[in-house]
Amino acid sequence: QLAEWAKLVDAPSVSKDGKEFEIAANIGTPDDVEDATKQGADGVGLFRSEFLYMSGDHFPSEDEQFEAYKKAVEGMNGKPVVVRTMDIGGDKPLDYMPLPEELNPFLGYRAIRICLQQPDMFKTQLRALVRASEFGPIQIMFPMIATVAELRAAKKIYEEAKAEVQATHPGLGDNVKIGMMIEVPLAAVNADALAKEVDFFSIGTNDLIQYFFAADRGNESVSYLYQPLNPALLSVIKHVIEAAHRHDTKAAMCGEMAGDELALPLLMGMGLDEYSMSATSILRTRSMMSKLDTKECAELVEEAINLSTAEEVAELVKSRLNK
Ligand code: PEP
Ligand code: MG
Repeated sequence: QLAEWAKLVDAPSVSKDGKEFEIAANIGTPDDVEDATKQGADGVGLFRSEFLYMSGDHFPSEDEQFEAYKKAVEGMNGKPVVVRTMDIGGDKPLDYMPLPEELNPFLGYRAIRICLQQPDMFKTQLRALVRASEFGPIQIMFPMIATVAELRAAKKIYEEAKAEVQATHPGLGDNVKIGMMIEVPLAAVNADALAKEVDFFSIGTNDLIQYFFAADRGNESVSYLYQPLNPALLSVIKHVIEAAHRHDTKAAMCGEMAGDELALPLLMGMGLDEYSMSATSILRTRSMMSKLDTKECAELVEEAINLSTAEEVAELVKSRLNK
């Protein structure tokens, strides 16, 4: 099997019936790009920029950030790199930036919510990203967006940051694609309105499932509620992908579910464009993808969302894969 997968490093990510997809890597530092490339990633679908903030003892300067983004995008040799803006708070504290203690950190002051209230800090990151776009196709993604107003506010700050860079680098950043994560239930439900205002979505199923099921993603006692194959959740994901496509917006996924073997045929059947996962899962997924027919997958989706439980969906998919 390993030998079969190794042959797929330079192969396109394509279904049995010839439909093209992208399989990308999730990375945590610029050094991870090497492994992503070795595993044949079509790009980086999620660069978790938190390491920049969490590894040091001070706020990373614009230049420090710029160097990290430049290194990542240069290492990918022309393939796109989606950088998620700061996603701290919640379960990811910063020693040098004391945040108020909260009863419900996952529902509190985190990620884009901090950035919108501290625009100078946010702009530092955005300027670094625009500058790094000189060295390759950087794309920018906002985490934890709930409302259209938040998205617009984030984009406004981005436009200001870009204008500041353009004062010395005319035109730089004009081709940078802007996207957002779908990880708050309201955003999933409201995907049509949001899709009109971004170039791409990336579904963050780790948080989306946690919030939809109201079950802490890190709490073992409620881990039975982590149900990527639950038919009601599948309907929501299908809605998000279809809403994206109605507005010419690319639909990606960067949560764990994107690399889940039983979810793959369903996501292909829904037309998900990009699957971003840990680098070690890429070749296995590409191999599996090449054996699946998208029309059969689409039929499978219709059957799956009419079932009642995640277990029933798992049985259905397994029986179809073993056929
Ligand atoms: C997610 O929420 O699915 C996601 C990809 O982001 P993180 O796991 O970093 O919260
Ligand atoms: Mg998340």
